Amino acid sequence: MAVTATHIWYYFICKREVWLLSRGIAADQEDENLDLGRFIDRNTYQKNKKEIVAGNIKVDRVRKEGEEVVVGEVKKSSRFKESSRYQLLFYLDSLRQMGIEARGELLFPQEKKREKVEWTEEKKKELDKVVEDIRKIAKKPVPPAPKKINFCKKCAYREYCWAEG
Ligand code: SF4
Repeated sequence: MAVTATHIWYYFICKREVWLLSRGIAADQEDENLDLGRFIDRNTYQKNKKEIVAGNIKVDRVRKEGEEVVVGEVKKSSRFKESSRYQLLFYLDSLRQMGIEARGELLFPQEKKREKVEWTEEKKKELDKVVEDIRKIAKKPVPPAPKKINFCKKCAYREYCWAEG
C-alpha cells in the first residue's frame, strides 16, 4: 500500500481512521468533512498560499537560503502539531528520495510561532516506523476499536464508530 501524507496526518489523530482510509471506505456522504483533504486544508493557513507539487507531494512554499532549500508548511494552529511535524518530515524524506535535500519549517502565523523540522537519520527511522505501523494497521482484518476523542465530533466516519452520533 502506498502510504500518503494523509495517512501520516491521521496516524497521530486516530488509528481507526487510518484503517478506514486505507480500505477506501466511504465516509458519510452527507458529512461536511467528507473530503478529508479539505479538513487538512482548513487547518492550513490559506493567505498568500503558493503550493508546490513535486511527485505525489504538495508543499505550501519553498525558498532558498543560500545553498539551502527550505520547505515551509503554514498551519492555522499548533493543535495537530505531531501530525504536522511528521507530515513535513514525510515531505522532506520524499524530496530527499528525489535528490533534493531540504530542511523544513512549520509556521503558525496566528500564534506567531515557528518550528524547525529537520531530516536526520534518527528522524528518518522514526518516520519509517510510523510508515511500517500504518501498513500493519491497513493489513489488519478489522479496524482498531473506536476511542472517543475530541476529533470524533468533526470526523466524517463518526457514524461508523458512534451510531448514536
Ligand atoms: S469517529 Fe473518532 S474513533 Fe471513529 S474514526 Fe473518527 S476519530 Fe476515529
